[in-house]
Amino acid sequence: MQAFAAEQAPVIERAEGFFLFDVDGRRYLDGISSLWCNVHGHRVPEIDAAVRAQLDRVAHTTLLGLRSPPSIELARRLVEAVPRGLNRVFYSDAGATAVEVALKLCVQYHAQRRDRPGQRRLFASVGGAYHGDTFGSISVGRSDHFHRAFAGMLFDSVALPSPVTYRIPAGETEESYLQFCFDEVERVVAQHAHELAGFIVEPLVQGAAGILVHPLGYLKHVREVTRKYDVPLIADEVAVGFGRTGTLFACEQEDVAPDVMCLAKGITGGYLPLAATITTDEIYSAFLGEPHEGRTFFHGHTYTGNPLGCAAALASLDLFERNNVLDNAARNSDILREELQQLARHPHVGEVRQKGVMIGIELVEDRDSKQPFPAERRTGHRVTLAARKRDCIVRPLGDVVILMPAPAMPGDLVRELCRATIESIDEATSL
Ligand SMILES: *Cc1c(COP(=O)(O)O)cnc(C)c1O
Repeated sequence: MQAFAAEQAPVIERAEGFFLFDVDGRRYLDGISSLWCNVHGHRVPEIDAAVRAQLDRVAHTTLLGLRSPPSIELARRLVEAVPRGLNRVFYSDAGATAVEVALKLCVQYHAQRRDRPGQRRLFASVGGAYHGDTFGSISVGRSDHFHRAFAGMLFDSVALPSPVTYRIPAGETEESYLQFCFDEVERVVAQHAHELAGFIVEPLVQGAAGILVHPLGYLKHVREVTRKYDVPLIADEVAVGFGRTGTLFACEQEDVAPDVMCLAKGITGGYLPLAATITTDEIYSAFLGEPHEGRTFFHGHTYTGNPLGCAAALASLDLFERNNVLDNAARNSDILREELQQLARHPHVGEVRQKGVMIGIELVEDRDSKQPFPAERRTGHRVTLAARKRDCIVRPLGDVVILMPAPAMPGDLVRELCRATIESIDEATSL
């Protein structure tokens, strides 16, 4: 019973800054940004005030047939912030819905485009990709765990090999394997160009796959190939957006402008559920016409563009500028690299992957052979429990320990998080 009690999830009652407090008053450092969404900390005075001020006006009105000042203002601010050409904003309320909107937009766009209308029903996505948990988003996602129960119910998509080199097929070198991954992009897109409604990618980093970091140039290559073959590129920035990779959006690092961008998680600073799917005039204009033409995009969620969420998002964007959050994230990125250096020779650490303030530490039974721990050992979960003893909240993905300190976290807390994590890994792997 004792062990069971220790495994029970803490009941979090309140938070302050970068700390969470459970009902017994125990304090934990939030090492995963409350599942990758918190940006400036919790109970941030400016965001609290913005939400309260909106609450004094109205908590929710619909965007179906009506508009609201915060949703209008936020759309304007987002369009200024995202890569050029993306200037039409469609709100929803979760990362998965932002992806659903992107997929449906692309299919309907091809059917209604005025230059070369046609039926395109296929999507391309990358091995191990995660785009959310709804049927459409799992159809382009690539995880057995998420698919198994729904075999036969998902729509078809084509898979590209993920361009990462930790475990490459026998007979390949890192160089030859990456070359293969790059070549596959053009081969697959060319082969299916007439039926591809879109190509969806997590720019730079595949988050839920275990912080798999793509090599420089991959995103740009995907952009060039998709442009060449007239296939819309959907950038799913749900995890990487809002500072996680070092820039406000990951696409900036390769100077890529996608045709559709999906935003959620960090958009409200991690306060409230809100999402945006942003696209180009080109795609938007395929939906314009007289009512009888039936070009409307029939998609809307009840809480789409919720004013409280939009108010929080506006306050969060202000804080990015006022507090130089991207500079802080860059310093934290250096701290993480420096502190985690000592894991490079750890016998049970296969690889430490990092982009900006996103960290994936892959635990293995044997460092040289890369042999994983037996799944039933639940090594990653043991790290969670060991970290909890050290007053830190971390949540691994399988045996990959994820650290995702909020971009605005002070450097000393980032160091604290790293040290507690290293001790926890030692404890969990030596038992
Ligand atoms: C988390 C995530 C999603 C899904 O977002 P939800 O808000 O949980 O629906 C989609 N894409 C990526 C890349 C994500 O990391």
